[in-house]
Amino acid sequence: MKVNQAEFIISAVGPSQYPPDALPEIALAGRSNVGKSSLINRMIQRKNLARTSSKPGKTQQLNYYKINSDLFFVDLPGYGYAQVSKSKREIWGKFIEQYLMHHEYLKLVLLIIDLRHPPSKDDQIMYDWLKHNGVPMCVVTTKADKITKGQWQKHVKIVRETLRMEKHERLVLFSSELGVGKDELWEIIEQEISK
Ligand code: GDP
Repeated sequence: MKVNQAEFIISAVGPSQYPPDALPEIALAGRSNVGKSSLINRMIQRKNLARTSSKPGKTQQLNYYKINSDLFFVDLPGYGYAQVSKSKREIWGKFIEQYLMHHEYLKLVLLIIDLRHPPSKDDQIMYDWLKHNGVPMCVVTTKADKITKGQWQKHVKIVRETLRMEKHERLVLFSSELGVGKDELWEIIEQEISK
């Protein structure tokens, strides 16, 4: 996709703040600091539209970014941040669950995972939950530049095995630093929003 225009629209704390535009939405899920903002910035070739690494875990909001007049990227709050209390985590869970289950414009969830490490317990829970609920998803393993190219496939295999992914399920190897995976991911997104 050729991105001519990308703008931050709103940090929505509830459904009443969701933008009125009936555009397809691509949501990004992943633990805090995994690289969701960086991935958005890379996809739209902007250095700093999505804010990277402000206060991990603090935000209980959905950040909407409008891309051309084609779609929204929706950055979900990062999960698995140790200092967030259990009660806050539950609120987080309910809020996100509401969005993921009942949002008619949601076309695809990108589950962002750090390629360097096996998926965490939280990653596994998220993956299982999305699959169980039939939410269309694509796993994106990011920070690929942090390991040598020769190791990439070995790590992809570990991610696939840990999540117990089936062969046909999609995984995109990504690096926000290098731009690896950008075109492949855009193709998948375009395919989903044209359905
Ligand atoms: P978020 O909390 O998921 O939005 O994570 P950020 O996008 O803020 O990224 C967290 C940190 O990881 C920042 O310091 C980024 O510069 C770094 N980072 C994110 N993606 C990549 C990547 O693909 N390669 C490298 N080398 N660093 C990355």
